[in-house]
Amino acid sequence: MIRKILQFRRPYTPPALTLSFDYERGLSGDDPTLADAGLDAVLAALARRKLRATFNCCAKLAEIAADRIRLIAAAGHEIGCHGYAHESPRDLTDADLRDMLRRSLDAFGGLSVRPVGFRSPQSHWDKRLMRELAAAGFRYSAEHDRASRPYVITRQPQVLMRFPVVTDDWDYIRNPAAPEVIARHTTYLRNAAAAKLPLALGYHPWVLAQDPQRIRDWESFVDLAIELQVPIAPFVDLLPS
Ligand SMILES: [Zn+2]
Repeated sequence: MIRKILQFRRPYTPPALTLSFDYERGLSGDDPTLADAGLDAVLAALARRKLRATFNCCAKLAEIAADRIRLIAAAGHEIGCHGYAHESPRDLTDADLRDMLRRSLDAFGGLSVRPVGFRSPQSHWDKRLMRELAAAGFRYSAEHDRASRPYVITRQPQVLMRFPVVTDDWDYIRNPAAPEVIARHTTYLRNAAAAKLPLALGYHPWVLAQDPQRIRDWESFVDLAIELQVPIAPFVDLLPS
């Protein structure tokens, strides 16, 4: 019985590593030059290894930096929505929330990009956002979340999956004196590989680009995943059919 309930709430997700990048390019107060340098480095590293990732982009960038969004899409990566201009969904009224999603889809639509995933700026999500995402045709929400597997977060008005992002690169900023980010990610990776569980980790190209060593460490981390034979896939590839 319990197993049946779990299967209902947690459709099967293959064990895979998802590399999830938030690309704001100045809209979160980040340095756009660093964001672009980091994006270029990450795209090159992924291309060398023939890997695909998820890039959560602010929708406004489809209007003001269309070439950058096209570059990501043309390389075959998934584009998720990271708000229109990095606004906190929790601060929006219901009407403004719907407007933000419609505006975001219109902006991406101008480049023939249709995101099915949403990642909230600062992980500021609430139940209203989940409902509006499902209503707007999104299929998943990716947020900081301790769950060990993806699960269904709402069925109203249609199924919306939650992909948990267990940790990110924020300690590089929060605690730069002891940047043990990659060591922690490596522990998560080895544990997920041993337990055959999916794993998603969050990054910001501008954070990685602050120090060339961070990019090198991240590349070594990706190579370890390859060595451990952990498949690497964007969220969209892991959605139940
Ligand atoms: Zn952000």
